Amino acid sequence: MKLHEYQSKRIFGQYGVPVPQGDVATTPQEARAIAERIGGPVVVKSQVLVGGRGKAGGIKLAQTPAEAEQVAARILALEIKGLPVRKVLIDPAADIRQEIYLGIVIDRAAARPVMMASSEGGVEIEEVARVKPEAIKKLHIDPTIGLRGYQTLWLAKAIGLPAALRRDFDLVAQGLYRAFLECDASLAEINPLVVTGQGSLLAVDGKMVLDDNSLFRHPELAAMRDLDEETPTERTAREADLSYVQLDGQIGCMVNGAGLAMATMDITKYFGGAPANFLDIGGGAKADRVATALRLILADPNVKAVLFNIFGGITRCDEVARGILTALDEVRPNVPMVVRLVGTNEAEGRRILNESSYRMATATTLAEAAQKAVTAARGELEV
Ligand code: GDP
Ligand code: MN
Repeated sequence: MKLHEYQSKRIFGQYGVPVPQGDVATTPQEARAIAERIGGPVVVKSQVLVGGRGKAGGIKLAQTPAEAEQVAARILALEIKGLPVRKVLIDPAADIRQEIYLGIVIDRAAARPVMMASSEGGVEIEEVARVKPEAIKKLHIDPTIGLRGYQTLWLAKAIGLPAALRRDFDLVAQGLYRAFLECDASLAEINPLVVTGQGSLLAVDGKMVLDDNSLFRHPELAAMRDLDEETPTERTAREADLSYVQLDGQIGCMVNGAGLAMATMDITKYFGGAPANFLDIGGGAKADRVATALRLILADPNVKAVLFNIFGGITRCDEVARGILTALDEVRPNVPMVVRLVGTNEAEGRRILNESSYRMATATTLAEAAQKAVTAARGELEV
């Protein structure tokens, strides 16, 4: 789950990171009132969960409250990368001398968090990594030891930060790390962390991505989810407790188990097809879940064939087959389907499907199923 800039910065602020004391508005009038309270030049920033807001006209300076109102009206009417702007953050304008990048992600290969800093802040870090990778300094953090002062000192020196700012930098880095850890984040980023004209550090932008699997123990963070930013498909999937990621291929994949789902996508690709989604319907494969999942898959207009790949372990394949038929009676898809059922009572499961009136091919191996699905998506499978 991604947090908005204003949410991320509030959290960073709670961990001692200096952040601008701004506020969020949903109307131009509110924006004006906040600017009046701040009293001085402000920056009006669109709150959408995509990057590159500046380039899209979503970040503008305003000298007076009246100008803040006008600018907010314009930004609130924008759509940035397909997302309508519903909120703007009004922050006191910062007097920026230097822009630094500071972020933490999990380095899976090293099995620990890695803190990254760069003197080339303000632009996307992926861009820095591409054109000037040596400008990104990395520091691995041993979670049992934590982040030590000598490490942040090394990082401050490595990015050429003036000696007078090293203590402040340590506070920012420690705060960011604690926020990352305690919120179960997979990413916490300040870009830019600026050196102001007053010679202090200020987190002008903030970004956090939280681990969805940890939200159950952070109800206050879970409540920050912005339902407006979710697509209807993502919402349906989340509410039905399905792991669903839409992709841009033609073969809809309905699979039980995340590992099996990934293997199914790989092998589909291997045989020249492209999966339309990742979907893990989980254990049990009850008819209502199958129906919800099928509806999600078929709502995607790119889908030209559906591949069911179900492993019947504890669940019996004949039950799964009946579940699929119930779902089909409800959803009535008009694309060809390929079903691979393996495990307990698989022969009975296949017989039930073969005797149904739906356009459905069955397969015993995954390779056979994938090849049939690829052929079906091309409209060349006789079923
Ligand atoms: P992003 O483009 O979505 O990452 O948004 P940022 O919050 O990082 O802002 C982009 C850029 O706008 C920053 O790198 C700054 O150069 C500039 N900017 C943002 N806030 C201020 C501000 O308060 N004052 C000034 N002068 N520039 C700002
Ligand atoms: Mn930024």
